[in-house]
Amino acid sequence: MPELPEVETMVRGIAPRLEGYQIAHVELRKTDVLRHVTKSRLIKTLEGSTIEQVTRRAKHAVFRLSSGDRMIIQPRMTGSFLIHDQPLTKEQTKYVVLICTLSDGRRFVYRDVRRLGTIWLLDETGWIAYSARIGPEPLEETFTPFVLANRLRGTRTAVKKAIMDQRRLAGVGNIYANEALFDARLNPAKSTHKLSLDEFARLHAAIVDVLQRALASSGTTLRDYRTGTGARGRFQFKLRVYGRGGEKCMNCGRKLVMTHTIDLRQTVFCPRCQR
Ligand SMILES: [Zn+2]
Repeated sequence: MPELPEVETMVRGIAPRLEGYQIAHVELRKTDVLRHVTKSRLIKTLEGSTIEQVTRRAKHAVFRLSSGDRMIIQPRMTGSFLIHDQPLTKEQTKYVVLICTLSDGRRFVYRDVRRLGTIWLLDETGWIAYSARIGPEPLEETFTPFVLANRLRGTRTAVKKAIMDQRRLAGVGNIYANEALFDARLNPAKSTHKLSLDEFARLHAAIVDVLQRALASSGTTLRDYRTGTGARGRFQFKLRVYGRGGEKCMNCGRKLVMTHTIDLRQTVFCPRCQR
């Protein structure tokens, strides 16, 4: 959390209000989020640069700068973005990590309550190499059942772990892995190399469907996640298994099982529907 739908929602909320604008001043209040860059180099690179494009890759927000570099923010559990027209009030500066004041006076703010998120700065070559190590984007048209089967081929790990592995597939985390496996009627602990072609096809369809539906609901807000305009997501009301351990399966009425044995994370599934 946030996963693909949440980061995509955040990016869509801020991109039109940042693209084409120059950064006049930068204030970095916390440095423990920095990776591959020092405080002084980040500030020096950002100040005077124009934000050319804001996109998403996997669970990262990618800010392409006129300097040729990319600032990559992974908001992880508790990070959020906001754009303020006015100077920040004392309350608004709470948990602030980065403030970029744009040349028109607006402020782009990255705040992070627990600071599990990270800020990277990569040049073109560094970014290409980094992106190449991440799996395909599930909402791109080129993502087919064959692409999924190919990326997961030969792995004996539990299918839930395999689809959350960002090197195999981009953007899927614990919530949507649980939901997709329920929709695909697959046991989360099933060894990936035992999946049939039909099961790969069902899994592919379920992953794409759940991500699209979550995106249409602006993502899932369980705690800190907010859209790029500060609103809550609404997909938490549509979750079928995640967070529902012990409750009845919406499909067959059997009690849903919760376990932490697969990957130490919360896994919820229906023992009847997901054999
Ligand atoms: Zn069931």
